[in-house]
Formats: sequence, C-alpha cells, structure tokens
Amino acid sequence: MSIANNILSIKASLPPHVTLVAVSKTKPVADLTEAYNAGQRIFGENKVQEMVEKWEQLPKDIQWHMIGHVQTNKVKYMVPFVSLIHGVDSLKLLVEINRQAKRYRKVINCLLQIHIAEEDTKFGLNELELKALLESDEFKQLENICITGLMGMATFTDDEAQIRKEFSYLKSIFDQLSKQPSTVNFQLSTLSMGMSGDYRIAIDCGGNMVRIGSSIFGNR
Ligand SMILES: *Cc1c(COP(=O)(O)O)cnc(C)c1O
Repeated sequence: MSIANNILSIKASLPPHVTLVAVSKTKPVADLTEAYNAGQRIFGENKVQEMVEKWEQLPKDIQWHMIGHVQTNKVKYMVPFVSLIHGVDSLKLLVEINRQAKRYRKVINCLLQIHIAEEDTKFGLNELELKALLESDEFKQLENICITGLMGMATFTDDEAQIRKEFSYLKSIFDQLSKQPSTVNFQLSTLSMGMSGDYRIAIDCGGNMVRIGSSIFGNR
C-alpha cells in the first residue's frame, strides 16, 4: 500500500467528527509530500528541530502539531508556526509557551497531557496536578495560550480491556472538565487519543483526534 492509499483508506474509515493527525516523525519530506498530495494537511512531529526543518521545506497551509515532550528552551523555535501543542504537562512549560507567544502577539492552542497508562515512563499530569494547574492564579493570567483539550497515551499492550479502561478514564476527565465554563484561555473541544494500534478503541471511547504514524508511513 502507498502512503496516499493509506491516508485515503484511514480517512474513509474515520467518523466525520474525528480529526486525523498524520504522525510523520523520522520520515523524509518526500513522504510528507505524498501525504500532502493525497489531501492531508495536519502533520504531527515529536522533535522541535525536525518539525522546523520540515516546515521550512513544505507548503505553508500545513498545520503542524507538536505531539512530543517539549523542553522549555525549544519552545521559541516553533512558536512562529505551530498550530497545536499536544504534550503540555507542566505550568512551567505553559508559562514559557505563553511568554514566547506574546512576543508574536499570538495565542497558541495547547492540550494538557494526562497520564493514563500503567507504565510510569510516559509523561503527563495526574488528576490532582491537572486541577491544581487549572486553578492556579498563574494559569488564569496567561493570555497567549488557550487550553483546547486533553491528550493521553494508553499502555502499550495487547490487552484491549486495559486500553479501553484507560481511554474511558481520560474521557471521563474530559467530560468533567467540559462542565466548567469556558474562559479566554480554557475552551475544551479536543480529546486527542489513539495511535495506529489503538485508534479504533480510542474513537469508541469518545476521542475526536487520532495521531497515526506507522499505519500511514510504515514502520519507523
Ligand atoms: C509516534 C507517536 C504516535 C504515532 O504512533 P504510531 O504507532 O506510529 O501510529 C502518536 N502519538 C505520539 C505521542 C507519538 O509519539
């Protein structure tokens, strides 16, 4: 199967309310171009430097999503063009995104990453940390970021029940938070969960943004 075919068949299989992020990390620009020519406009990268290099070479109507863990000292390089940052898991990082965004008079949309997997290797906030962040005075004063949703990664396992439990847990946090009134920097709409191996389960559990790499571009 070609990249174009993979994109088209995955897109055709997604319900209309689900957004596809094509995860192109480690893949050459030629592969992204093939996806672009098949109509894909949202690409996900996990390293700032690599995303900057691809942004420079590719059409400017691409929406670039940062899906990886971001170091605060790298934020400034992507702020001019990034459209959504998925992996925000500290107030410190949010403050730095806000500070850089302000220099460009922009508002950068961010997702808060929630720790849902059994493994403790994965990044993310727990429920208490999430609550503390959102209720802090420092957060309320940030005017150049907007929290538009949540992101999570399930345990890497064949146990479908386990994956389902973790995604359902994230959906329940999302639903709870969605009951809170929107503010200038808090407007929930996006629940980013699901990768090549588990995106169907994620959609079943209520996710509306999937991040798919190897099923489109092949193994890395
Ligand atoms: C690499 C990556 C993906 C895509 O993984 P695939 O299994 O190749 O679909 C999704 N989300 C994050 C955060 C990733 O790092």
